[in-house]
Amino acid sequence: MTTRRHLIQIIPVLPLASIAGAASLLTACGKKETAVVPAEAPPAAPPSPAVATTPAPAAPAAPAATAGLPLLDEKEPAAVALGYANDATKTDKAKYPKYADGQNCANCVLYQGAADSAQGGCPLFPGKNVSAKAWCSAYAKKGA
Ligand code: SF4
Repeated sequence: MTTRRHLIQIIPVLPLASIAGAASLLTACGKKETAVVPAEAPPAAPPSPAVATTPAPAAPAAPAATAGLPLLDEKEPAAVALGYANDATKTDKAKYPKYADGQNCANCVLYQGAADSAQGGCPLFPGKNVSAKAWCSAYAKKGA
């Protein structure tokens, strides 16, 4: 009897035309060959993190929502403490020598009103608006 083992041994010496026949004989032996499945490739590495990009420039700070807030009274203690004057040109220059002509809330870095607004917020006086034409001793030139 021709065994499967015997056929496997003689297949290499058979001419190519006989190989198909030998395969048929193997099948006829009733023993199924288990297919050799190549091992699966390891899963692909996760994509590398995106290359750091230059952060987008920060948007200019939106003006604080100060519409409807009352105008700061220059007689309020907090206003008096900082030498706040609703009209910057009336600032006491002897008491506040740092004041210079042209300085006012509208061109102060802390002013939160729009560029063309008559009044806007100031973090030093929460809950109140300051006049764009006002000034106080905490003034700091915008863009300086
Ligand atoms: Fe005006 Fe600037 Fe003084 Fe605020 S800190 S009251 S914006 S001058």
